[in-house]
Amino acid sequence: MANNTIIFDLDHTLLNSQELKKRLAIIMDIDTDLYNESYKERFGNRNEPYSLDKHIKFLQSKGRVKNGEIEFFRIKKKLDKDLPDLSSFLFKKYSEVIKQSGGENDEKILLTFGNQVWQKKKIEKLSVLKPLFDRIIIEEKEKENSELLKELANKEEKVVIVNDNLIETVKMLEVIGEEKCEVKIIKSIHSEKETDREFAEERGFEYYKSIEDLFNGEDDEKK
Ligand SMILES: [Mg+2]
Repeated sequence: MANNTIIFDLDHTLLNSQELKKRLAIIMDIDTDLYNESYKERFGNRNEPYSLDKHIKFLQSKGRVKNGEIEFFRIKKKLDKDLPDLSSFLFKKYSEVIKQSGGENDEKILLTFGNQVWQKKKIEKLSVLKPLFDRIIIEEKEKENSELLKELANKEEKVVIVNDNLIETVKMLEVIGEEKCEVKIIKSIHSEKETDREFAEERGFEYYKSIEDLFNGEDDEKK
């Protein structure tokens, strides 16, 4: 039996990153609008992966949060204290969806692109995900230089991509090779427009309103 590969994305796919941002704003003592604006301003146009440290420093440089090293470390400490575990930010049924995806011999990979330090921190706080995946990979390089994607490009077996971000997914397909890929787009801020859905469907991608919609088993474990 062929060993297919199933790649799950983390942010906005398995993790409710919008809710997490709201919590981070509270921890930084700023409102969500300022969090989002400054996020966009600092990371939006530079195509630079998100980093909490850089975000705090940026807000300090703009005088939007209290300045100084002590304050910087206070916020970071608060993050660890207030958010020791992020599993409550995972979308419902994440575990069922991951477990029921693919066959026994298929490899399941959690692949997340972004800043190593910040993504690693998130993964550490999501230890519930560890037993569900064969590999967890944080990729800081651009898609075309990703070791994993290059590895998959050399495989003949099918690759299933579960991701909320259309642009990211298309870039991944360019490296892996579209013919052998099956794509499941999960609706998020990166794919919520009607034109996004149309684009996805024209491209032959499956489109889901949420990760929970991927689950098609009996809901008998509800507590
Ligand atoms: Mg994502």
